[in-house]
Amino acid sequence: MGQIKFLTDRNLGKLTKWLRMLGYDTVYYTGNIDRSFLREGVKEGRIALTRRRDMARRHFSGRMFIVHADKVPDQLSGVIDEFSLEFDTKRLFTLCLTCNEKLKDIPKADIKSRVPPYVFQTQNNFRICPQCQKIFWPGTHRNNALLYLKQHNLFHLP
Ligand SMILES: [Zn+2]
Repeated sequence: MGQIKFLTDRNLGKLTKWLRMLGYDTVYYTGNIDRSFLREGVKEGRIALTRRRDMARRHFSGRMFIVHADKVPDQLSGVIDEFSLEFDTKRLFTLCLTCNEKLKDIPKADIKSRVPPYVFQTQNNFRICPQCQKIFWPGTHRNNALLYLKQHNLFHLP
């Protein structure tokens, strides 16, 4: 089964980060929201997410979803419902939030000089973005993300 992939327009920066955080491959398109935006989506089999309501009138062979909600949790909720997205803890934080690249495991010994001493002492699993070289580890970000999802009743998490 092919993994669902998204293309977001430049008005959806926060939604983009949330989708990546949840493990959904999402390309953030910073160009004009026009025909080339839609073409980009079709090219890679991505679902185009846009705030531009008038895009619905365009002739378009790919899949598109107009994001009507203004608030980020409502936007995320709309996308989750529309595409029946599932919550999978194994996929959480597997993509770089900035680059959309798949993170790679990196041995603890290799990152000693690159993370704060407290983090090095208390964490054992580290991952790196092959593109921006940023180091990631499960920590407060993960807990905060889960809390946010629960608070907004997304995925109906217990
Ligand atoms: Zn990166």
